[in-house]
Amino acid sequence: MDALIDELTKALGADAVLTGEAAAERSTSPWTRLGTPRALLRPRTTEEVSTALRICHAASAPVSAWGGKTGLVSGARAEGEIALSLDRMSAIEEIDTTGATMTVQAGCVLQTACEAAEATGLMLPLDLGARGSATIGGNISTNAGGNRVLRYGMMRDMVLGVEAVLADGTVVSSLNHLMKNNTGYDLKQLFIGSEGTLGVVTRAVLRLRTRPVSQDTALVAVETFDQLPALLRLLDRRLGGTLSAFEVMWADFYELVTTEPAKGRAPIPHGHPYYVLIDGMGGDEAADAERFEAVLGEALETGLVADAVVAKSLAEREAIWGLRDDVGQTGRGGPSHTFDVSLRISDMEAYVANVRAALAARWADPAAFVFGHLGDGNIHLVIGVGVGGSDIRKAIEEIVYQPLAAIGGSISAEHGVGLQKRAYLGLSRNPGEIALMRTLKGVLDPKNILNRGKIFEVEA
Ligand code: ZN
Repeated sequence: MDALIDELTKALGADAVLTGEAAAERSTSPWTRLGTPRALLRPRTTEEVSTALRICHAASAPVSAWGGKTGLVSGARAEGEIALSLDRMSAIEEIDTTGATMTVQAGCVLQTACEAAEATGLMLPLDLGARGSATIGGNISTNAGGNRVLRYGMMRDMVLGVEAVLADGTVVSSLNHLMKNNTGYDLKQLFIGSEGTLGVVTRAVLRLRTRPVSQDTALVAVETFDQLPALLRLLDRRLGGTLSAFEVMWADFYELVTTEPAKGRAPIPHGHPYYVLIDGMGGDEAADAERFEAVLGEALETGLVADAVVAKSLAEREAIWGLRDDVGQTGRGGPSHTFDVSLRISDMEAYVANVRAALAARWADPAAFVFGHLGDGNIHLVIGVGVGGSDIRKAIEEIVYQPLAAIGGSISAEHGVGLQKRAYLGLSRNPGEIALMRTLKGVLDPKNILNRGKIFEVEA
């Protein structure tokens, strides 16, 4: 008998404690595999989360919190541990349309929260590929980014308040609704982006925005890298603050997603080095469209862009976004490795060229598909060298990550560190920073039970 499981079952009820097959079958998703947990807990309230953690803390049993299981860095892996799913805490508790805030439980699916906000004429602007499964708690714990960071910021910028449960079961309620509250330490930041290592987020107050009524989308071709930031500045200046996405696709990615067996077709012919998806969201449909086309016309006339197509219907807009979102094509040539790195725009061209050269020096005919949120200084690389395996993965990681240290880049723009990038944390954070992280971890979770081993290892 497992005394810990017995105690948890007594405290939470049998339906809230799954073990064996019932727990194992919930540990996989199309995005990730989280191992076989010792047990899977499904609390219904913050009080039950607190009870569960108090019991696990007393037993020094490690606990990993689970949201939508869409993470990409093994940040919620719970092999042999207690998994704590927030899936039954999914309610939207309040939408304040006057103050433009939403109070929501951590297990609420992102898309559900977005749709509820939209129904009131407001918007929760976080938008990412996993929107249909990812949860608000996971978005907070990982400080999710996505497609509109340029305009609205990351999850961190949308969180006004957080309720979290500490490792020993203490509930810290910091459900602030105010935009401005300068009264000491901003405690919610401890739980945003800390990947569940300092506490389990149970509820949050989110800042909503006014829902735009217009959306204008274009795809343009650009001939030189230097023209990309110049185009970004022009759009930022001339679109009156409506620029919402500036997504760049390097030529080989664009060719991949517009060639059979991919479903997408090329709105602009192949042959240009860069393609940019431009999206504007504003408050005046006719005037916004007119201005959008005028600015693109100016960019064409001055030679800043070589070709441009503006979506004339919802179907055309979806077709253009469909190209950018068809990342799955990058895996069709064999095993592939995905990276999300941040670096200054001024370093990007040389960085990508260096990575390609290093891959070509080691493997015959490597593929490196590059695309992403250039406006945020964030690019994604999907690299395939024809063979898989952990040694190959490590060799590619070295090529992608090592050059970032010298240029002040980051090994993770969006996805987080989890287990996967732990060995490289020192490339993006200095020893003083990592020491302070360890101090915080030691104070808030002295027994090291919360998401043990994620981000960095704690010596026992
Ligand atoms: Zn991304």
